[in-house]
Amino acid sequence: MSHDPNCIFCKIIAGQIPAKKVFEDEDVLVFHDIHPWAPVHILLIPKLHIASMVELQPEHAALLGKMSLLAPRLLKELGVSNGFRTVINTGPDGGQEVYHLHMHAMGGPRPWAKG
Ligand code: AMP
Ligand code: ZN
Repeated sequence: MSHDPNCIFCKIIAGQIPAKKVFEDEDVLVFHDIHPWAPVHILLIPKLHIASMVELQPEHAALLGKMSLLAPRLLKELGVSNGFRTVINTGPDGGQEVYHLHMHAMGGPRPWAKG
């Protein structure tokens, strides 16, 4: 499934739910997390509905590479200059709440709300 009508992040991609967008191209959307753990907390998501890392296939390698390269670039543009944390939660024990693959990227001066 490339789009799941019941998925909250697919709804953001489709423009049905608002989000504070940071970056968008044909493959990836980046927006601010609604409950930030850190002064800067963005989510990088593929436009393709991939539920979690468990569903990743070899053909998704470039997509994940693109997300990994985007994170430091966008954090820098948002003023993060002293390090950051990237997290991908997977499955129930991984604490995943939204089943559309996403990379958290967090930075900014500590203390942070969480993490
Ligand atoms: P996870 O636990 O890794 O699945 O994280 C899901 C993240 O999505 C949480 O940090 C939420 O705050 C964030 N989130 C959920 N709904 C929205 C939304 N509508 N806009 C922005 N961030 C959201
Ligand atoms: Zn989705």
